[in-house]
Amino acid sequence: MSDLDCKLLVIGAGPGGYVCAIRAGQLGIDTIIVEAAKVGGTCLNVGCIPSKALIHAANEFYDFSHCAASPIGISASEVKIDLGQTIAWKDKIVTRLDNGVAGLLKRAKTRLISGTARFLDGKTIEVATDDGPQIIRAENIVVATGSAPVELAELPFGGDVISSTEALSLTELPENLAIVGGGYIGMEIGTAMAKLGAKVTIVELQGSVLPLYDAEIVKPVLKNLNKLGVEILVNSSAMGVHDGVLEIKNSTGKSQRIKADKILVTVGRRPRTGKIGLDELSLTMDGAFIGIDEKCQTSMRGVFAIGDVTGEPMLAHRAMAQGEMVAEIIAGKPRLWNKMCVPSVCFTDPEIVECGMSAVAAKSAGIEIKTGQFPLAANGRAMTMEQESGFVRVVARADNNLILGLQAVGGGISELSAAFSIAIEMGARLDDIGATIHAHPTLSEGLQEACLKALGHAIHI
Ligand code: FAD
Ligand code: NAD
Repeated sequence: MSDLDCKLLVIGAGPGGYVCAIRAGQLGIDTIIVEAAKVGGTCLNVGCIPSKALIHAANEFYDFSHCAASPIGISASEVKIDLGQTIAWKDKIVTRLDNGVAGLLKRAKTRLISGTARFLDGKTIEVATDDGPQIIRAENIVVATGSAPVELAELPFGGDVISSTEALSLTELPENLAIVGGGYIGMEIGTAMAKLGAKVTIVELQGSVLPLYDAEIVKPVLKNLNKLGVEILVNSSAMGVHDGVLEIKNSTGKSQRIKADKILVTVGRRPRTGKIGLDELSLTMDGAFIGIDEKCQTSMRGVFAIGDVTGEPMLAHRAMAQGEMVAEIIAGKPRLWNKMCVPSVCFTDPEIVECGMSAVAAKSAGIEIKTGQFPLAANGRAMTMEQESGFVRVVARADNNLILGLQAVGGGISELSAAFSIAIEMGARLDDIGATIHAHPTLSEGLQEACLKALGHAIHI
């Protein structure tokens, strides 16, 4: 194979890499993108999209199965789910999205090469393709190789010990599912599996599940998990599994044995930096992650890194935003990472959405704040959706009402994430949101009311 040259080479076609390549193509940059597995990366194939499909299916099944208990007046008998068909439906969505991304890359005139890339030096990559090694020389290289599940020494993956990838393709529901790690993935998949009918136990190392969020916001999630019969063991870690029994030890040294047909390990994700020849480049690392500056430049000129491989927050929309920015920098535009916030959503039941600073973070930064919280129990739309638990909370500067952070928990509340991000990115004050007409009846009225509450004159409480 003859060697190839390009201005930009992107390694990895996940949300970071494919967005970078598409934007670069739009800007007329001669771009090659290399992908070892499937276009779309973790997010489209084994992450965001498959998990949200499973969550939707589980919600539908649970709601139909339990409608008799609801006061609405709907009844249904013999509600069944064919998990094989659910997975086939999920796979179709994934294929549609993967094909869509491949089409967008093509339309942007970027060249897609299938194979595993490895640095030979800071400007040269060798790709192991099905047809043999392909050498590519590039003026700029973007590392967007993403992340993989962390494996525990006591519970190596294989057999009944699975990662999220296998959990999102199970065609038979485990009767007893143990989940080690009560973070984003454990809580999202655990809720879905419990709604499908599995007996779920979550084993969490720290004192609470979802330790990134404050206790008040996690409370409605815990209440629903309790209703679903999910057992939560905090301050605990897994010691090993023998004959379908998971052994747990808590911080006081007490042991417990849990029956488990499958053990899902979700204790975080590690960057995919091995085997790509980074050692030879001697890049400055940030722990296990690739160190970057405000332009996503690594310590080697012309080598950029974006997405999960650069660390937390490991979120698809952050990877995409970095990818878009790097393409523009390579095109010569004056860009740098000056985002005011990266929103996060946890698709539990109810959902959690956060953007910007929490009250605790603002106080520890020495900022004097005021807060406003509006309960969804006082929101008409929430009542009509039978989703009354939760609230919207705003954190603002006490001196000038600048909104610093927004947090909410509630059914369907993830859709407020855009309003939250726009408010913070555009420097909105409590008065701006309070004076903006919010359509009635919508959950977004909760945002307006939280701001009015912080100003001391909420209307509906
Ligand atoms: P990835 O998506 O991991 O893509 C990296 C790509 O690089 C892969 O396709 C890989 O095959 C390829 N690659 C690696 N090494 C090489 C090599 N040497 N040569 C060529 N190609 C290579 N985030 C959200 O924002 N919202 C969610 O709801 C959400 N849900 C999630 C649910 C689950 C179960 C999981 C696991 C993750 C979820 N995430 C979610 C996180 C999200 O998937 C990641 O943040 C996102 O995919 C990171 O994008 P990336 O481009 O950095 O890497
Ligand atoms: P996580 O960091 O969210 O949670 C890991 C959990 O495991 C933590 O609560 C941690 O205390 C616990 N833990 C660590 N070691 C343990 C041990 N030995 N025993 C028991 N518990 C242990 O990680 P994750 O759930 O694997 O998700 C990985 C990343 O994927 C997240 O950082 C997130 O950015 C991304 N993600 C995002 C979404 C979303 O945006 N909705 C959904 C899924 C995943």
